[in-house]
Amino acid sequence: MQVSDIQKKINQLKEDLIFWENHLKEIQRYCDHSFEGEHLYKKCLHCEKIEALYY
Ligand SMILES: [Zn+2]
Repeated sequence: MQVSDIQKKINQLKEDLIFWENHLKEIQRYCDHSFEGEHLYKKCLHCEKIEALYY
């Protein structure tokens, strides 16, 4: 595999990553969160968004 092919592949994967991260953020933004508490953080039962708890 040529270096240029590898770089092309890396760039495609980065674009995919950005797409999926934005998709996840959209879901979490419009979620009606139901947080379940843990010791150090709480996690939403629907979208798995995590919020840290501070003492
Ligand atoms: Zn949620």
